[in-house]
Amino acid sequence: MVDVLVIGAGPAGISAAIYAKRAGANAIVLYNGESNLEKAHKIDNYYGFENGIDGKKLYENGIKQAKNLEIDVKEEEVFNIKKENEIFFIETENNEYEAKSVIIATGNKKLRPNIKGVLDFEGKGISYCAICDGFFYRKKDVVVIGSGKFAIKEADDLKNIANSVTILTNGGELVDNSDYKVDTRIIKEIHGENKVNSVEFEDGEEIKVDGVFIAIGEAGGTDFAKKMGVMLKGDSIIVDENMKTNIDGLYSCGNAAGGLLQVCKATYEGAKAGLSAFKYVKDNK
Ligand SMILES: Cc1cc2nc3c(=O)[nH]c(=O)nc-3n(C[C@H](O)[C@H](O)[C@H](O)COP(=O)(O)OP(=O)(O)OC[C@H]3O[C@@H](n4cnc5c(N)ncnc54)[C@H](O)[C@@H]3O)c2cc1C
Repeated sequence: MVDVLVIGAGPAGISAAIYAKRAGANAIVLYNGESNLEKAHKIDNYYGFENGIDGKKLYENGIKQAKNLEIDVKEEEVFNIKKENEIFFIETENNEYEAKSVIIATGNKKLRPNIKGVLDFEGKGISYCAICDGFFYRKKDVVVIGSGKFAIKEADDLKNIANSVTILTNGGELVDNSDYKVDTRIIKEIHGENKVNSVEFEDGEEIKVDGVFIAIGEAGGTDFAKKMGVMLKGDSIIVDENMKTNIDGLYSCGNAAGGLLQVCKATYEGAKAGLSAFKYVKDNK
């Protein structure tokens, strides 16, 4: 049983783990997928680097720093979080962890693919959460858009509910062999009237569908949050001044919690989330 499990190894997640660990908690960090920092060619505005620093280097340094402080930092993609009887269960590609508290520091992910029609049909046949909305598609034909493990996981959650599940990679290559029908063609548009009724590919062919589930890249903070009933504002997790979400023991920080999308804010909020999670664990012993 872990005291504080942090999802994400960017400046928010690493700071959270460092502060939680130094306060006295046992903390682990799970990460997989891209950090925003890796895309930042040069960070010039963060304190203490006289000539700026390459974002990728800063990211790698943070992970090394946490490891040097004897924090277990593991490269494992998280698919899902559940809370039962005051314990969090964190499902990853290989394991299930149990934790007393969880900090979501997964950064901000662009959830929406650039496909015509997506915006028009959100909530009208387009969903971002198989566990939440799968039931509405009982015995219907659905597609999952995505090519990573997260897309396969979403398909797994739909296969016993829907009549058929097809994975549309939209030009990508599916990470794993799977039992699903896979279509790799590039998607041109999602059509419908009051709700989705077909997907058109760039070659002009159209397939009839009742529902479209979007699962691009890895599951992001808002994907976990939605499944757990965490309150969101747009694509950001709502937190209070202690970085707590509306679920006891669950915290968020950095880009996942919205606001100023900068390293300084991510480290500050990470520190706060780490200390808050530690206090929660201590108070609930
Ligand atoms: C091009 C560019 C330039 C930028 N320039 C600057 C700048 O000059 N100055 C500045 O202050 N900021 C800059 N930023 C912003 C800065 O990079 C972010 O604000 C910062 O990285 C946010 O930190 P974070 O820890 O919240 O998220 P991130 O750094 O994005 O880290 C997210 C972490 O979550 C992990 N993760 C996500 N999903 C999962 C999952 N399902 N399972 C396990 N792990 C997961 C990822 O692997 C990663 O470790 C820039 C961003 C970009 C894109």
